[in-house]
Amino acid sequence: MLVVMQSHATEEQVRAVCQRIESLGYKALPVPGAGRTAVCITGNSGPVDIGSLEAMAGVVECIAVSKPYKLGSRDVKEESTVVRIPTPLGDVAFGGRDIAMVAGPCAIETREQAFAVAERVKKAGARLFRGGAYKPRTSPYSFQGLGEPGLKILAEVRERFGLGIVTEAIDNESLELVEKYADVIQIGARNMQNFSLLKRAGRSQKPVLLKRGMSATLDEFLMAAEYVMSEGNYNVILCERGVRTFSDHTRNTLDLSMIPAVQRRSHLPIVVDPSHGTGKRHKVLPLSRAAVAVGADGLLVEVHHDPDRALSDGMQSILPDEFDELIREVRQIAGVLRRTIN
Ligand code: PEP
Ligand code: MN
Repeated sequence: MLVVMQSHATEEQVRAVCQRIESLGYKALPVPGAGRTAVCITGNSGPVDIGSLEAMAGVVECIAVSKPYKLGSRDVKEESTVVRIPTPLGDVAFGGRDIAMVAGPCAIETREQAFAVAERVKKAGARLFRGGAYKPRTSPYSFQGLGEPGLKILAEVRERFGLGIVTEAIDNESLELVEKYADVIQIGARNMQNFSLLKRAGRSQKPVLLKRGMSATLDEFLMAAEYVMSEGNYNVILCERGVRTFSDHTRNTLDLSMIPAVQRRSHLPIVVDPSHGTGKRHKVLPLSRAAVAVGADGLLVEVHHDPDRALSDGMQSILPDEFDELIREVRQIAGVLRRTIN
């Protein structure tokens, strides 16, 4: 259920509506929009008695939200959300006219490796650097990431190059540390339905980049975002990274039809990861072009200066020169859509 406030409703009127909802035993989550605020009612198992709410000052109407997700739905907030990430080089926006570029190695291996890639990624024009200090690996014998020393290297990258940092938390324990160092907390595909992690990320002050699970439906994906938002963190960026299909010519099948599907139902920004989405270096550029053409709000690309010796995901990591070319090409495609790369 949604209580739609008048465009000129005062903060006090919104607060009074929230108090009334809570006195009825439900949770009230105000969602401010460009023109008006809507108050979302959650925690109700059945229909809410709307009579007394609709009569309150500043209220336009109460409407039932038919979708299982509410806070992330366009029914609740019509205009697209822009998630702004402040970096020393300026804000990076996800969800507006800009298309955000996020790049870096799959894993932080050494300070030298991180610096070598960061330098090139910055030169190419990206302002967000992504690298994992905690890696969710299929095998327990594969490189698991450097842990906190990796986060410290990321902090040095931020300091030295002015790049914002995107890095993954794999459990509640690592999230405690990640949120201290990162500008954006990544939740990986394998954790898309780790509900306690999603709730913990929802209590963080940092924006969350949520990757689609490898077999998640659209509703499951949006419900995962809802977990984060329901705890009060509305800065969620979705990421399509491919799903499991019958195709065996790629690691995953990049489901680009997810982008317009999400944009129709949700106001949240959505980016594309063509690296995990294909698993093959030579497919990263063509799928990046396609992702921008289809309307993605950003790209997440794995770049390594020596991919053949990378400790994880070398086969899908592109070289810095290839990343330069990628940015050049997607900038032209963005121009056709009257969007810019940032
Ligand atoms: C990653 O981003 O390095 C990663 C492990 O991706 P995913 O969670 O999409 O598999
Ligand atoms: Mn990877």
